[in-house]
Amino acid sequence: MEIVKTKNLTFDYIRRDEDGNVEGITTAVDNVSLSVKPGEFIAILGHNGSGKSTLAKHINAILFPTEGTVFVDGMDTNDDKNLWDIRKTAGMVFQNPDNQIIGQVVEEDVGFGPENMGVPTDEILERVAESLKAVGMYEFRKKSPNRLSGGQKQRVSIAGVLAMHPKCIVLDEPTAMLDPIGRKEVIRAVTALNMVEKITIILITHYMNEIVGADRVFVMDKGHIAMEGTPREIFSRVEELKALRLDVPQVTSCAHELKKRGLNIPDGILTEAELVEALKNVYHS
Ligand code: ADP
Ligand code: MG
Repeated sequence: MEIVKTKNLTFDYIRRDEDGNVEGITTAVDNVSLSVKPGEFIAILGHNGSGKSTLAKHINAILFPTEGTVFVDGMDTNDDKNLWDIRKTAGMVFQNPDNQIIGQVVEEDVGFGPENMGVPTDEILERVAESLKAVGMYEFRKKSPNRLSGGQKQRVSIAGVLAMHPKCIVLDEPTAMLDPIGRKEVIRAVTALNMVEKITIILITHYMNEIVGADRVFVMDKGHIAMEGTPREIFSRVEELKALRLDVPQVTSCAHELKKRGLNIPDGILTEAELVEALKNVYHS
C-alpha cells in the first residue's frame, strides 16, 4: 500500500470580505494525483506560490481537499476518526525552527509529542534519547534551545517529530532559514533517517543540491505536477526547468552549456565527478 496517495486533489483558498461574501478564489492545488511508496525519498520543487505548502498540509491533515481524496497509509484524511492516527503517521517540519520549539530544555521539547500522545514516561525517555541520537543532537539534550544554531534547532524539531514514531516526515523548506552548514546538517540527518530508519521523506526545497539524493522528484507549477522523475531525469530537462523559473545545480548547468556548444556529454550530470569523467571521455575518444 502507498504511504501517501492523492486522487484528483484540488484545494481552493476562498477569500471573503467582512460580510462573508466571496471576494476571490485561489486554486492552490489543481487536480493532483500522486503516490508515494513506503521508504521513498521524495523531493518537491517549484517556484513560490506553486502550491507546495498547500499540498504538504494535506498530508498531515492540516488542510482538507476541496475536491478529491488524500490517503495517508490507507487512511482517508476526510474521515474525522482517522485524524489522530494520520498526524502520528505523517509528521511535519516547517521552515522556521523558532516557531516549532516550545520547551525550555531540548529533551523536554522532544518529549512533548509522545507525552501528548499518552506514551508512558519510561518510554518517552527512551524515545527522546533515541530521536536525539538519530539526528546527532543527543549531547545537547540538557541545553536550552535558545543557545543552539539554526541547523541544530531544526534537528531538534525533527527529533520532536521522530519521537512520535512516524512512518513519514514531510519537511516544508526546512533549510530555507539556515546557513550552508546548518543546511548540510539537516539534509544529512534527513537522509540518514530515510536510509537507516526507512522513514518516508517528503522534502520541499528550493535548493537543487538537496534533491540530488532523492529517489523521485516532483516539480510543481501553478498547482499542477509539471514534471516527475528521478533527479537525473529531471535535471536532463534543463530548458523546461528554466521555463518554470527553476535553476539546476551549477555543475548540471555547466555540463548542459558544454553540450549545447557541441561537446559529447550526457544529459543530467549531477556531480563534479560525473562531469570530470564525461570530459575525460570527450578528450580521450
Ligand atoms: P508554495 O508553498 O509553493 O509557495 P503555497 O501552497 O503556499 O505555495 O501557495 C499556493 C497559492 O495559494 C499561492 O497563490 C498563494 O498565494 C495561495 N495561498 C497560500 N496560502 C493562502 C492562504 N492562507 N489564503 C489565501 N491564499 C493562499
Ligand atoms: Mg511554501
